[in-house]
Amino acid sequence: MFKPQAIYYENGIKDYYLGKFLLDKYSDVPKIEIENHNNIEVMRNKPNSEFANMKKNLIIGVRKTHKFVENHKTSDFLVPYTSSGCTAMCMYCYLVCNYNKCSYLRLFVNREKMLDKIIKTSENSEKELTFEIGSNSDLVLENTITGNLVWTIENFANTKKGFLTFPTKFDMIDDILDINHNGKIIVRMSVNPQEIINKVEFGTSRLDSRINAINKLKKSGYKIGILIAPVILVNNWQSLYKDLIQTLSDKLCYKVKKDTFFEIIFMTYSFVHTKINEEAFPNAINLFDKNLMTGRGKGKYMYKSEIKKEAEIYLRNLMKKYFPNNKIMYVV
Ligand code: SF4
Repeated sequence: MFKPQAIYYENGIKDYYLGKFLLDKYSDVPKIEIENHNNIEVMRNKPNSEFANMKKNLIIGVRKTHKFVENHKTSDFLVPYTSSGCTAMCMYCYLVCNYNKCSYLRLFVNREKMLDKIIKTSENSEKELTFEIGSNSDLVLENTITGNLVWTIENFANTKKGFLTFPTKFDMIDDILDINHNGKIIVRMSVNPQEIINKVEFGTSRLDSRINAINKLKKSGYKIGILIAPVILVNNWQSLYKDLIQTLSDKLCYKVKKDTFFEIIFMTYSFVHTKINEEAFPNAINLFDKNLMTGRGKGKYMYKSEIKKEAEIYLRNLMKKYFPNNKIMYVV
């Protein structure tokens, strides 16, 4: 259970139920008042080597930006929701590209406004829309602190139209198993070989517990997607991903295998990641491989297209063998 080492908070959070709840929940934790959750000078000035320590803090504020971004993968809109950042430390985390070393967990207490906008957009639309509410954080993890996922699902379940979806790398899903979701929630579990989880995805749940969580969620009627993500081309990647797909085939229950869909995403990396990781995790593996990767503008790196294509064919063949009836939504 995450217990923050310090809380940085905007005074305005006291006007919200959730703000008061969190201040009360952590009444024994040192608190520092801040002007703006986006600009905490004392955090910005810390060296990269402090990255893991910075993740032990909790930042609480009021979300000011509520702009939906159109999306064409597994949802119609990416929605800024109740948190950004995370207490875990995956070495490739995409949030580091946006927030640099300040990708610690920030909670936003004005959840009513955010969910209200989703519900209104959904009900005013002619077609059924799907809203991605977890593109900035991990809501299963966040729920252990705020209870926001339970609150969100219970308050969205009886809307006339629409779906919510979010990805996760965590197994703490018991709180949402017995609540009314009305079939309107699509949980997308992100998986990787256990060896990669150990070496790269610090602070996330183990593979076998993620698989158990998928089975339990399905039993409770949730729609399920599986992300094989990010695919990382370490030396023994072929055998690792073969084992992973075989394990999924062996351990996922019949109901999941019947209709789950997959997304396959290759790792993208960046100059910022290399700098933070070498200083924050000096003994960890180096994910940047100049023989396999190429620049993609703005200091980002991706696998060279011919290398990625070859890996994609390998993975698609495995999927054809072990999950012949399941849709792969995309490979990127
Ligand atoms: S669990 Fe997700 S949000 Fe958290 S560090 Fe890993 S990739 Fe980033």
